[in-house]
Amino acid sequence: MTTFWIVYAFIIGLCIGSFLNVVILRGLSGESIVLPSSHCTKCSHKLAWYDNIPLLSYLFLKGKCRYCNEKISIQYPLVELFTGLVFAGVFYKYGLTVNTIFIMAALSLCIVMSVTDIKERVILDGHAYFLIILGLVYNFFNFAGEDSTKITFWFLGLKITIFQAFIHSVLGLIGGFAVMGLISLIAKLITKKKCFGEGDAYILGALGSFFGIANAIVILILSIFIWGGLSIPVFLYKWFKDKNYKMFGSIILFILAAFLFAVGEYFNIFTSNLFHWFAYLLVACIGLHCCRLLLQSIKEGEKPLVLPYGPALVMGALMVVFLL
Ligand SMILES: [Zn+2]
Repeated sequence: MTTFWIVYAFIIGLCIGSFLNVVILRGLSGESIVLPSSHCTKCSHKLAWYDNIPLLSYLFLKGKCRYCNEKISIQYPLVELFTGLVFAGVFYKYGLTVNTIFIMAALSLCIVMSVTDIKERVILDGHAYFLIILGLVYNFFNFAGEDSTKITFWFLGLKITIFQAFIHSVLGLIGGFAVMGLISLIAKLITKKKCFGEGDAYILGALGSFFGIANAIVILILSIFIWGGLSIPVFLYKWFKDKNYKMFGSIILFILAAFLFAVGEYFNIFTSNLFHWFAYLLVACIGLHCCRLLLQSIKEGEKPLVLPYGPALVMGALMVVFLL
């Protein structure tokens, strides 16, 4: 029986994913979500219902428009499949509750923001505001229900009792926005270029409002590792291709030194404090050297960001939903 409902959640997710594609496309082009019926973006031919079946239509049409043979973006089936898997996963973990509905809605908005960030490097304010309001409502009524502590205080002579979760939500909103905004400001001051968009501040603020301040910190830390882990190979490949061996070699040396240091730490080979500090200092120096090279290359006009940061934050949020 449970399997039946998980498959059901997967199919609902496929359909919602199909709708999210419309939200993404029309959000970026400024068209209304409801009014014009589905049409091909190239030939504008109106699509029949059988051209609009999530996932299946793409497979049957072999990724091409039935009318003009224009290639259909792989984004459509990917978003549908991903949304389907996320919905099935949330349902599997949380069952049929109000909590589940809210988490599905929040993750849907996360998917939309990730795709607009990947496609055009923008986060639309409307999507972020929607998630912020959703998060505030979700925590005001404490739908997560994990911690039902209430807090009472007097305000203008009125006795007010609210869930602690709501305070964590407001703090998450302000904290997430402020921390990411500050990081973006510092990066801008050092490199004199816009590195991280304000969009990332909106995403972390919105995630903070939904998941609370403590989870927002976890999400930020996870996102640094996710983004770094994905970016380092991309950058290394780029430097190698551009014959920038100075940068390539320095980063490889740093990774190697840091790895050896960690291994040494693990197997306790640092028998004396002096030895330990010497090794530590050596790794730090190579790290600083790499940072100096990086800053220099950014100042010399190299594009600082190869990968957008928003999706890394969203992947952090997904880990919080499914692993914590
Ligand atoms: Zn067409």
